[in-house]
Amino acid sequence: MIERPKPFEWNYCAICGEPLELSSDGEKERPYCETCGRFYYRNPLPAVCAILTRGDELLLVQRAVDPCRGHWSLPGGFVELGETTEEALIREMREETALEVRGLRLIGVSTQHSLHYGGVMVLGYAVQEWSGEPHPDSDALDIRFYTPDERPPLPFPAHRELLAIFDETHMNRKG
Ligand SMILES: [Zn+2]
Repeated sequence: MIERPKPFEWNYCAICGEPLELSSDGEKERPYCETCGRFYYRNPLPAVCAILTRGDELLLVQRAVDPCRGHWSLPGGFVELGETTEEALIREMREETALEVRGLRLIGVSTQHSLHYGGVMVLGYAVQEWSGEPHPDSDALDIRFYTPDERPPLPFPAHRELLAIFDETHMNRKG
């Protein structure tokens, strides 16, 4: 019985397939492939989410995929290699809401521990201009606007933190 190396989750080199060993890169012990001379680093995954409002109402989508399938959350998703964060959000909004969005304003960044991904770093954008008729596309079961009183609890801590930042800024502007 071979004891699995800890604490990292990668056991084999993604390039050559040789087993990885823990080795110091000068700072700390990290997974290392001796054959390729390559360290493996784990980083939080970059993601984006949108806060899109119509008056006081907030657009939420009912998730079609796990984690938290069936729950209502802010639209958004992971940034793919080769995309800017704004391009990722424009793509995700098309996939989930069928809306074309423009005028994205960065609200803040929330970095959270994630059971599924180790860690996620979510950039929240306020959508200032949009066009089209919102309807659920491939990645959403349903979609609707919620008044502040109706809003269901959001399952992701990053979304809650970013929405709180938005609400605070919004209220200050009004007051
Ligand atoms: Zn290798």
